[in-house]
Amino acid sequence: MSDEDITIESRLAEQDYFEPPEEFVEQANAADPAIYDRFDEFPGGFEEYAEMLDWDSEWDTVLDDSNPPFYEWFVGGELNASHNCVDRHLDERGDETALLWEGEDGETRDITYDDLHEKVNETAAALRSVGVEEDDVVTIHLPMVPALPITMLACARIGAPHSVVFAGFSANALAERVGSAESDHVVTIDGYYRRGEFLDHIEKADEAMAETDRDPEVLAWTRHDEPEVDVSDDYTMVADLLDDHRGETVEPVSRDAEDPLFLMYTSGTTGQPKGCQHRTGGYLAYVTGTSKYVEDIKPEDTYWCPADIGWITGHSYIVYGPLSLGTTTVMYEGAPDHPTKSRIWEIAEAYDVDIFHTSPTAVRQFMKWGEEHVEGHDFDFRHMTTVGEPIQPEAWLWYYKHIGDESAVIVDTWWQTETGGHLITNLPALHDMKPGSAGHPAPGIQPAIYDDNGESIPAESGEAGNLVIERPWPGMLQTVYGNDERFISEYWERFSDTDSDDSSDWVYEAGDGAVQAEDGYYRVLGRLDDVMNVAGHRLGTMELESAVAEVDDVAEAAVAAREDAEKGEVPDVYVTVREGVEENEEVRDRIVGAIEQEIGKFARPNEVIFVDDLPKTRSGKIMRRLLENISNGDELGNTTTLRDPSVPEEIRDQVQTD
Ligand code: ATP
Ligand code: MG
Repeated sequence: MSDEDITIESRLAEQDYFEPPEEFVEQANAADPAIYDRFDEFPGGFEEYAEMLDWDSEWDTVLDDSNPPFYEWFVGGELNASHNCVDRHLDERGDETALLWEGEDGETRDITYDDLHEKVNETAAALRSVGVEEDDVVTIHLPMVPALPITMLACARIGAPHSVVFAGFSANALAERVGSAESDHVVTIDGYYRRGEFLDHIEKADEAMAETDRDPEVLAWTRHDEPEVDVSDDYTMVADLLDDHRGETVEPVSRDAEDPLFLMYTSGTTGQPKGCQHRTGGYLAYVTGTSKYVEDIKPEDTYWCPADIGWITGHSYIVYGPLSLGTTTVMYEGAPDHPTKSRIWEIAEAYDVDIFHTSPTAVRQFMKWGEEHVEGHDFDFRHMTTVGEPIQPEAWLWYYKHIGDESAVIVDTWWQTETGGHLITNLPALHDMKPGSAGHPAPGIQPAIYDDNGESIPAESGEAGNLVIERPWPGMLQTVYGNDERFISEYWERFSDTDSDDSSDWVYEAGDGAVQAEDGYYRVLGRLDDVMNVAGHRLGTMELESAVAEVDDVAEAAVAAREDAEKGEVPDVYVTVREGVEENEEVRDRIVGAIEQEIGKFARPNEVIFVDDLPKTRSGKIMRRLLENISNGDELGNTTTLRDPSVPEEIRDQVQTD
């Protein structure tokens, strides 16, 4: 063990909290604790977020909760999201960069707010010219190229809700979402770069069109001036439409605050994808407010969230929140390790990024590659974010130390596709950081933890239970598209009195487990099906994985519950090791030892299995359900949302021959 590792371990052991640096606090957008008091005035506190926007007409009621759970926010108000993200910045920031895009092949584009205005208008005119009308759902299947946010904002301009389908998703997933959203227009592109290869993306549209019963019009952008692959004559080339509408402007449509802005299908780690429908006013207000207070974004910042816009994170915190605040938001097309594992840090240095927003899975990846890929790159983040999964304290500390240089603040933000924006997160200048804990509720948010009978577990008890939200908030989904019943059954039924029309009888069920520690910090344990019961002890797989991650040779670990006649369940630990490390008995013993020491002998793993890769969704989350099936000798089941469906098969073959 190197000296450095000893320091990390001992620091984690003796230090629970990390203070935000003074220089950060001095300049923070949210530096006055009175913000919490303001938002405690419910629902009026949320007007502070709405007031950050330009409205065509003011709302007359902040919240109409007369028909729960169909809440309405900023009722009577009218606004347009593309006006708020583009037009309103033109006077002061027309020449400033809105989108800073880097292609994987090294091509760059610096798109100012003036440029963005022009492109969004032309694209809006193009969409109208092919018959897209207000309230038509446009399905967008685009990779990380400028055409993606431009098309989204063009849709918003004409009041057509968009439904962005992550580009990595298959033709099948695309067809399913086109059908579910009853979409008559699909926007795609000829191709894009990934790991040095030009991927034919049109193929997916072709296949999806063959699969779907609908007959949508397909609009195709091109990655270069000319198409690089064969594009069907049935498709309309966006470039031709744009030629016909050069220099045109399209008046932004005044949308009712409650008119939908977009649909976003959840990634489908569990079951059938759900079309989460988000409203215009409440959503935009909420992501603008949290971008300002949680992300600490200022117009003069360069902000980079290397997630994909095809996930909610990208919608809220690459496109709508940052652009609404008039800042510069960075987009990168390609793989983080192409051509080298330093690519991310080269970009951070080249664009002098101030705020960096990523996921625990990416942090674990960077950690696995090793800090030598970071060293020597001159960037200086003031603020860093994680989202998507619980972050193991070990990974947190590595991120803090090697990426943040111990001088950046970190917020661990808990939220969901359904919630639109952050719900549990510290405000970075107002709370100390605590590795592994998302921390405090965001202003105005009222979480609680319920036991399985729906009884509230006392606050700060340290006892695990179901994470719920007891009051509505402006960023929440309106419904599941076209399926109000599913909206109620998925999110409300379990802990609400569904016969009541008193909003206080309605409670939102997040589907995640959480604990609130004595210090008030919430720790989200992950989805409830990732909680196992070992000899009567309820353990989050996350706790076991955090213990394993403390073994310095381990890159990533996932724990799955194996059924056990005696104990109920026992953990199987699936592990990938860091580069250059040998998979041997000695490492195995240290893993077992770490669990015994951190959790207890009762949690001793049944097996430690070294694997090359863990099964992950396309958004990078570990799919533990599959490992559980492997451990228990069950069928694998649906693997269509996996990044690489061969991974669980290889693991299964390995486990069976071992
Ligand atoms: P699906 O709902 O389709 O199964 P998903 O829940 O993974 O997929 P998202 O809405 O992108 O799709 O992710 C939200 C979930 O991610 C949360 O419910 C939680 O389980 C997890 N999560 C997000 N942020 C955090 C965080 N900071 N700490 C712990 N868990 C988090
Ligand atoms: Mg979910």
